[in-house]
Amino acid sequence: MKIMDEKTREDLLTLFRSKLNRAMTLYLETCSRCGVCFEACHVYASRPHDVKGIPAYRAEVVRRIYKKYFKPQGRIMPHLGESRELSEMALEELSEAAWSCTGCRRCVVFCPFGIDTQMLMSVAKLLLIGAGTEPEILTLLADTSVEKGKSLDLYKEGFMASVRDLEAEVVERWKIEAGEAGTVIPLGKEGADILYVGLAGAHSILPTAAVFNQARENWTLSFFEAVNFGAFVGDPGKTQLILDRIVNEARRLKVKEVAICECGTAFRIMKAMAADQPFKVSSITEVHARYLKEGRIKVDKTRFAGIPVTYHDPCQLARNAGVMDEPRYILSQIADDFREMTKDPKYNWCCGGGGGLVAQGEDTLDFRMKSSSVKVDQVKGTKATLLATACENCHTQLSDLNAHYKMGVDVKFLSAMVADAMIVS
Ligand code: SF4
Ligand code: SF4
Repeated sequence: MKIMDEKTREDLLTLFRSKLNRAMTLYLETCSRCGVCFEACHVYASRPHDVKGIPAYRAEVVRRIYKKYFKPQGRIMPHLGESRELSEMALEELSEAAWSCTGCRRCVVFCPFGIDTQMLMSVAKLLLIGAGTEPEILTLLADTSVEKGKSLDLYKEGFMASVRDLEAEVVERWKIEAGEAGTVIPLGKEGADILYVGLAGAHSILPTAAVFNQARENWTLSFFEAVNFGAFVGDPGKTQLILDRIVNEARRLKVKEVAICECGTAFRIMKAMAADQPFKVSSITEVHARYLKEGRIKVDKTRFAGIPVTYHDPCQLARNAGVMDEPRYILSQIADDFREMTKDPKYNWCCGGGGGLVAQGEDTLDFRMKSSSVKVDQVKGTKATLLATACENCHTQLSDLNAHYKMGVDVKFLSAMVADAMIVS
């Protein structure tokens, strides 16, 4: 194994220092080792033989480096206590800790001090980026998003052509007529009330376009994708740049609301980081619940009748952003046999695919399957045959779990269910 040189170590410690705000220092200084968080993590609960899945263990990997370089005892008497030199081996431990944490923050709900392991893992991810040992694919995807933001004109025409194809599909499937704008998927419309930010696939645009049109919404589709690969890889600069593309577009078009597609991380980041903007940020699940409550769309209540349905709460949408009632309201309108997985959605198990794990595809598949058996048990416990969710990552991971564990469920996006049950008039 190569030896870390002093210059690299110093550069990495500068990165570490940049993360030391008040909250982070508190998380680094506080852990009573009470053990309450142990069973809270799906990774450890699914693989109790491996202590590396314990949240406090992960945190300790970062904490030991902190003790070595940022605490007097670690500097003066490094042989005492539990400090750890920042070395190539330490980087390997940081990688293992950070890339086995989905950032679901279930452990935070249980910890008596509210220690946020996800935040501590953001230090680990930043050091790994500094050392050039982060998952390459995530940096590549983040860089592509940033580039797209800089040179939209290069992509514009191709995107517009593919949207015109999607329009034909919306008209064909839902028999919806183009409104006054002469198009069922408006693009770049200044003065629209809602800017909808979707994902690359048609599945995130088609049903939503149908619902917007039926609700007679004054909306427009974003030229950008909602997903923030900068956040997945843990690069604060790229996270901001990717977010800025959408914020700038929303400001340019003077929209009142930005609706984020079924992508939990994209929604949570946009909601938190664009709090001071002159537009409201909503998840598409909230928008659909609102249309149903206001009677702007009507649904056929028999569409999913007699089918036992359960709902997986995406961690970033539910526990970490509070969208828990809306999906249940939607399901109360379109399903007559809804079954909860847990008494309180706040404690729902993570699907095991968040935090950039699903985005790494096959590379993480084995770990994702082995670290999520508690989620499988939870779904199976409901005996539901339809598993709804409202996040792309969760949908992919749940579909992988469904195939791997032969769960026998139909995994569906909530937005697609709304569009399927919608009465077109
Ligand atoms: S619950 Fe909190 S204080 Fe207790 S061991 Fe876990 S992180 Fe430390
Ligand atoms: S954030 Fe989630 S995955 Fe990470 S340690 Fe906590 S419970 Fe485990």
